[in-house]
Amino acid sequence: MTTENIDLVIIGSGPAGYTAALYASRAGLKPVLFQGGQPGGQLTITNDVENYPGYPDGINGPQMMVDFQKQAERFGADIRYGMVTKVDFSGYPHKLIVDDKHEITAKAVIISTGASAKWLGLESEQRLNSKGVSACAVCDGFFFRGQDVVVVGGGDTACEEATYLSKLANKVYMLVRRDEMRASTIMQKRVDNAKNIEVLWNTETVEVLGEEEVTGARVKNNVTGEEYDIEAQGFFVAIGHKPNTEIFEGYIDMESTGYIKTLGKSSLTNVEGVFASGDAQDSIYRQAVTAAGSGCMAALDAERFLAAKEMEEEVAKS
Ligand code: NAP
Repeated sequence: MTTENIDLVIIGSGPAGYTAALYASRAGLKPVLFQGGQPGGQLTITNDVENYPGYPDGINGPQMMVDFQKQAERFGADIRYGMVTKVDFSGYPHKLIVDDKHEITAKAVIISTGASAKWLGLESEQRLNSKGVSACAVCDGFFFRGQDVVVVGGGDTACEEATYLSKLANKVYMLVRRDEMRASTIMQKRVDNAKNIEVLWNTETVEVLGEEEVTGARVKNNVTGEEYDIEAQGFFVAIGHKPNTEIFEGYIDMESTGYIKTLGKSSLTNVEGVFASGDAQDSIYRQAVTAAGSGCMAALDAERFLAAKEMEEEVAKS
């Protein structure tokens, strides 16, 4: 295994990672960014982003991430395909393994690994994944044109998915497990305005039905206890996200939910020279714009850290 020595490694390619790469490359730090398994991150499975400042008419999520990447590359950021599969932050410099085969040492690391969709955890959901079960309406909605679909969840994501699907599908059943939604008022209004979305309140999924492909869902009203089947060809899960931080377990302090702990109003973690940004450390705001802001913070913190390290090394030499 060959070892490559890099000053600043950025892990992840969502708004946080690309913004960190933009700031760090403009500061002359020659960052290397590993894109991970989903280049562009969660925004690549989002349709129109209407709440990112600077785009008065909104922008398509995948296009926005292409623009983020280009802007970072313009200043020399080295953006690479590759998944960081292992880290060792027990010594210094930090060690990382990419794609289980390339070893890297890094003086500073910015974690911007984001978060991934959560699943219900049902056997039938797993078995029928990609056979009608999906966590991305923009990716898979097209396959259910004129058919009936189920969307699980009551947050902004579920409302967005249901609204998107309502334009393609014949009918959308939205399963909300409480008698109210967590979603913002504007997103709920869009659901209310769509004539072919039916919200089933206090309703949970017992199982996804179908042998080779989805044929429906068995659901349960958790107030009355009544169980019944809904016929549908698509089953979309939109119940939130979990941070992609498993590889840092044992090295970095985290909340019990897996979100990385940062110090005060900074991107500093408990490990010197390791900084965290974006959804990997944010369980509250989780917006593209807040992720980008925290990527900027991480780059500035890493720049200060690397300058201090350089100074230390020069003093030690003299
Ligand atoms: P979220 O706000 O955490 O909502 C998750 C939803 O799924 C809740 O309704 C929750 O119910 C439900 N849920 C969780 N586990 C479930 C289970 N096992 N079975 C059934 N239902 C379950 O997640 P999100 O909707 O992905 O949104 C995350 C963040 O991104 C939010 O800050 C949101 O504002 C933001 N976002 C914004 C936009 C936009 O503005 N365009 C679009 C998407 C997301 P309970 O309420 O009962 O817990």
